[in-house]
Amino acid sequence: MSRTVVHVDMDAFFVSVELLDHPELHGKAVAVGGSAEQRGVISAASYPARAFGVHSAQPTRTALQRCPGLILLPPRHDLYEACSRRLMALLGTVSPVVEPLSIDEAFLDVSGTEAVHGPPEQLARRLHARIHAELRLPVSIGVAANKLVAKIATEQAKPDNVRLVLAGQEAAFLAPLPVRVLWGVGPRTAALLADLGVATVGDITRVGEGRLASRLGPRGAEDLLRRARGLDDAPVQPEREARQISQESTFARDHRQPEVLRAVLLELSDAVGSRLRAAGMTARTIGVKFRYADFTTFSRQTTLPNPTDANRAIGETAWTLFTGAWSGRPIRLLGVAAQQLGTANAQLDLFAAADERQQRLDRAVDAVRRRFGPDAVQRGSTLPRPPRA
Ligand SMILES: [Mg+2]
Repeated sequence: MSRTVVHVDMDAFFVSVELLDHPELHGKAVAVGGSAEQRGVISAASYPARAFGVHSAQPTRTALQRCPGLILLPPRHDLYEACSRRLMALLGTVSPVVEPLSIDEAFLDVSGTEAVHGPPEQLARRLHARIHAELRLPVSIGVAANKLVAKIATEQAKPDNVRLVLAGQEAAFLAPLPVRVLWGVGPRTAALLADLGVATVGDITRVGEGRLASRLGPRGAEDLLRRARGLDDAPVQPEREARQISQESTFARDHRQPEVLRAVLLELSDAVGSRLRAAGMTARTIGVKFRYADFTTFSRQTTLPNPTDANRAIGETAWTLFTGAWSGRPIRLLGVAAQQLGTANAQLDLFAAADERQQRLDRAVDAVRRRFGPDAVQRGSTLPRPPRA
């Protein structure tokens, strides 16, 4: 049976949530991120800020150089998590098969729901209107017969719109787009393809498998051709069945400053922790993944004495794993994964006293921040080291 996959991605999510409290900042260059003095990084940028070259995972100092008038807001993660929970709950009313990809992004399998929701385009437009009405936030939605094409359709829909790709139209939809829209095509593959005169997805299908294989190997060529034709049969996988919860970030520019890498790794760990808590799960194993500028990729993982969903345990474990394996060379991608997942309740009574204290601390900090604002409490571990002279 054919699938219908919906991909939902909030636009400039953290910034959009902040604009609910700061309507006067609409249309301005706004970003959420850590301060330049504390060697912070940008977590999200408004579209007007992006026009200046500001983007996420960029050091705030660089962002302020590119956009001196940038309005920088400190992150309020408890607020974003609350919005995320409302979003995921809303999506759960549309389909029981929801796969969250990050705090503001999810796939839904809506196959066979036409009797309830109408044809896919109507479903997507209604979902768009409901998210506006209930969350008052901009969102982009892609609909297609598979995850690969639905996600690219969302990118084409941005900002704040819906894009539907009909079954059978996948290759035609992808053909004029740059090769970088495809999963797994980074700058290095794009450069190899450019050598073959391949700039668009359509060029990939025209250049021929033999010439692609000469650069990418037979397996690489076959995989790339499948994606270029818009073929993908990966199922939408609900989080409860997921084998891991992970977050990763690719930098626009390679980084080697430990302060920046640590700030990004702790951000990713916080996101993994909040997704674990939202799903009511804990992780027994924590993993990190990192990629050097030359694309060599490493991963390391370790099993904890007790399962956890605490940001700090995840972050410090990830940092220890990373620093134990990193050669000091520039990094282009960092990722954090929670693995060997279990349900939180079943394991709660097994927690060591120290973990329980940490958990209570996490929740107490969340509660104080909810009442008195994000700067009311700062944990030492999330403060980047002061700049060196
Ligand atoms: Mg988004």
